[in-house]
Amino acid sequence: MIDVISYLPAKRKQTASGWISVNAPCCVHKGETADRRQRGGIKPGADGSWSWHCFNCGFTASFVVGRTLTFKARRLLEWMNVPAEEIERINLESLRHRNMEGLLSDRQQVANQLQSIEFEDRDLPADTMPLSAAAQAYLQARMAPADYPFLYKTMPRPGVVIPFTHDNQVVGHTTRFLDDRTPRYIQDIQPGYVFGTDLQKATWQTAIVVEGVFDALSISGLAVLHAEINDAQVRLIRSLGRDIVVVPDQDKAGMRLVDRAVELGWAVSMPDWPADVKDVNDAVIRWGRLATVITILQAKETSKIKIELRKKQLVKRLR
Ligand SMILES: [Zn+2]
Repeated sequence: MIDVISYLPAKRKQTASGWISVNAPCCVHKGETADRRQRGGIKPGADGSWSWHCFNCGFTASFVVGRTLTFKARRLLEWMNVPAEEIERINLESLRHRNMEGLLSDRQQVANQLQSIEFEDRDLPADTMPLSAAAQAYLQARMAPADYPFLYKTMPRPGVVIPFTHDNQVVGHTTRFLDDRTPRYIQDIQPGYVFGTDLQKATWQTAIVVEGVFDALSISGLAVLHAEINDAQVRLIRSLGRDIVVVPDQDKAGMRLVDRAVELGWAVSMPDWPADVKDVNDAVIRWGRLATVITILQAKETSKIKIELRKKQLVKRLR
């Protein structure tokens, strides 16, 4: 088994949430002063996989057993003074653990490269920290999954940082500020990005497409992150090979999403929710995840005429 812990600096601290904190070796390479407050965190998984996040400079890297070492994971190991031949050994050892899921994800990656669905690795903002009690309560109230790697920051305003991942690598993020001032979100998003591909399970046949990041988080759906679906996003969603159901927000902007879904030939679901339930996240908060998903699948429509009729009903109510 690949044991990355043995390469960590001897001075380390284990936190209740599973992070091991050490002085981060990344910061000096990112133009920051050397970390002396143990702000580098590594979260080991049961099988030898791990993810790294630096709470000081924002550098992220992750490693999945069965996959090749990524560029950023290699750099991190180098910065930890792991010898080059040892890094190669880790890489080979990892590939020996390649399983069916790894092979499938490789095939997906090749397909993605052919269709140029690729995103560059991004760091998260500097100066983040583990979730405060208030941030944790906020996420719980919005029914966000407890095991998603949320972070917290206080500058310029207190907010929850939601990493955007693709293929388990960090490729951007959004921050949801916790005060009610606008803007409520700021995003680092790459063109064509769709949130939630890493939330999809290999056995699922249907993918539910929603607008917002919290809608996606609360039902493991895909979020297009605005009320439109651009062509690059369409390519990415199609590449997943699932049946698609689009669930628009029940507001004016959401109705534009319906038109786009019809144009693409995708199914649409507009469940009969009361007027104060505007989106999937509202529904999950009220009825829970399972009940919401069932309602969505029951209200799924593929007939263009039926979709138009349902849309008319909703538009009437929105006036
Ligand atoms: Zn760092």
